[in-house]
Amino acid sequence: MNSLEVNAAPTIPGPEVSRPRIGFASLGCPKNLVDSEVMMGLLAEAGATITSDAETADVLVVNTCSFIDKAKQESVDTILEMAQHKTAGRAQRLVVAGCMVERYRDEIQKNIPEVDAVVGTGELQQILTAAGLASPRPAAGNSPFRILTVAEAAVAHRAEGDHREKQGRFSRESWDGAIASLPNYLYNEHTPRLRTTARSSAYVKIAEGCDHPCGFCIIPQLRGKFRSRRFESVVAEVERLVTEGVQEVTLIGQDTTCYGEDFGMKDGLAQLLDRLARIDGVRWLRFLYAYPNRVTPTLLETMARHENICKYLDVPLQHAAPNVLKRMKRGGGADIFLKMIERVRAAMPEITLRTSFIAGFPGETQADFDLLMDFVREARFNWLGVFEYSDEEGSAAYALDGKVSRRTIGARQRKLMRNQLQISRKACATQVDSVMDVLVEGESEETPLLWQGRSAMHAPEIDGKILINDLGPYASVQAGKFYRCEITDAHDYDLIARVVA
Ligand code: SF4
Repeated sequence: MNSLEVNAAPTIPGPEVSRPRIGFASLGCPKNLVDSEVMMGLLAEAGATITSDAETADVLVVNTCSFIDKAKQESVDTILEMAQHKTAGRAQRLVVAGCMVERYRDEIQKNIPEVDAVVGTGELQQILTAAGLASPRPAAGNSPFRILTVAEAAVAHRAEGDHREKQGRFSRESWDGAIASLPNYLYNEHTPRLRTTARSSAYVKIAEGCDHPCGFCIIPQLRGKFRSRRFESVVAEVERLVTEGVQEVTLIGQDTTCYGEDFGMKDGLAQLLDRLARIDGVRWLRFLYAYPNRVTPTLLETMARHENICKYLDVPLQHAAPNVLKRMKRGGGADIFLKMIERVRAAMPEITLRTSFIAGFPGETQADFDLLMDFVREARFNWLGVFEYSDEEGSAAYALDGKVSRRTIGARQRKLMRNQLQISRKACATQVDSVMDVLVEGESEETPLLWQGRSAMHAPEIDGKILINDLGPYASVQAGKFYRCEITDAHDYDLIARVVA
């Protein structure tokens, strides 16, 4: 079970004995994790105890991911595993939530009779009734959910989203089992949330949904049109998180660089970063998932100006061959991206760059792939992920010709990663002898003889790590605290360090 450990004890009244125990499994990306944390917060507020032990839970919840085939399979496997607990164990109810519900709402209950209720990505407050606890909170007035009023909805969309809607971007008509209406909610600073990340780190979702037309992606159909959280709401949440001991804030959304466009803001993300960086106690601030043509001079200047904004840019490029990018409905190409990277490095020479690509998109020729390989060598990303193309029904790419064989896709993915290994090895070696702040996360996953941490060049969970084998002046170190460390050795993706202060 991919169960979640809750690190912040809820302040819930009521006797322990009467509290239903809820086992929660969260799959997929950090955006889904925040949804899980919100649902757990609502359940805890209603009197439930959240447990990571499926054996002793009265209610089991699986928050699913439906991004690509592999993710769907993992979701189905987890639902079936939980269904067994319900059949053979103590659990009375099984609830399925998340992206898979948006895609297969009816099918899930029809095909897995153990499932008692489903909760889509736009109805998180329904988790209470789904779990058999209480009526959902009212959708207006003092509700912690920002359900858009008709008046707000009229101004809270971007023109691009409305245009794409007319083109059918968000249509789910051809999806058996899905309902027509799109999710349209946002949590806010008042929404209860039980964080499951380390005490010193938190994700903050600043926007939801996406208006981009990327041909391989069904997230817009699953999550709805792009909408931003109110500026003051994000600021208030980060201020509160800091009082709870959070020092590292990671801003997320399907595309964080569109932040505020639905409110008519220009360079909204830069404005938000500028404000959040001024909050006392925010030591590391970063954002993930930038769209390449929205990495503006103002955004770079803002990142460079604030010491506590990590010099870290995650910009998924998906490919570098212009004709593949055109078929992907994204645009751009190696030359344009290299210029963008040059601008970024000119503004912040110490920047850490992360990107991701898709190998084997329909129509990708050997020449396209070779161009991508050359681009990766030239761009020298610090961190890189490569997804194998997954043919998703409902995506525009599903109807494209020129499908690449699974074998070739796998071979290309592996070749890109081998290429990156050389680049990463060299980049890691250049860090030896440097001294940097390291956030200690705990004992190493590999051996209790080492401690594990991250520097500003490592985002939570996705990048390499720093392994500490020498505590220097300390007899012991504490998880969640920052230490000054000297890098003493380098591996392919990880660094070895000694604490110096
Ligand atoms: S930017 Fe493209 S890939 Fe990312 S969520 Fe939006 S449509 Fe999907």
